[in-house]
Amino acid sequence: MKHVRADSRHASSPAREAPTFFECPQCGFLTPDARFGADEIVCPTCGAHGDGRRTFPPERLRRLDARIRSYHDDEEHEIVVILVETFLESILEDIIDRILKARGADVTVREVVLDGQRAIGARIGRLFPHLTGEEFEEAAAELGYREFPQRWRKLRAARNAFIHDSPFRGTQESLSADDAATAMELLDQAYELFVLINNRFVASAEQTSPFCDRA
Ligand SMILES: [Zn+2]
Repeated sequence: MKHVRADSRHASSPAREAPTFFECPQCGFLTPDARFGADEIVCPTCGAHGDGRRTFPPERLRRLDARIRSYHDDEEHEIVVILVETFLESILEDIIDRILKARGADVTVREVVLDGQRAIGARIGRLFPHLTGEEFEEAAAELGYREFPQRWRKLRAARNAFIHDSPFRGTQESLSADDAATAMELLDQAYELFVLINNRFVASAEQTSPFCDRA
């Protein structure tokens, strides 16, 4: 694996729209290669044919992404930060759900697990390492996104200080253009990071499944 510091390329301006990845119907591998979507090449992980219908991100995240970019064009910094945080929490939930599914958890189990860990900190700090055997920070660093977890944490803290009136920390009156720029970078980076996490922990789940080993 190449150890490229993907998150050290600070984008001068955000992408115009969400990228599209094509999903292998057999193993869940995700690739930006349109030839797989068009069934011109087979899945590099399992050799299955793509059906072109399964794409990532799902439509609801794509719509949220489009709204965020439009608020960013209008320089609505506060809305951008709040919506990007919502987006990141939603894409994390999506990936955790995909990991659970790949490991044989049925709909009920997935619902119970995700409902049992609603807080974002617990999902990152407890659920993710439990399911993958790695800390989120460690996995992100190995995949080239070392700064991503702590930048996400800082942005989350800024968002929380802005929307919650805390008697302990005081209030934050506004979210700045810099906060919004950080949010847009995290939005653009999140796709590739979560696709890499998917390909590592979903598309190769059969070797590491905690559900299958117990049989
Ligand atoms: Zn495959």
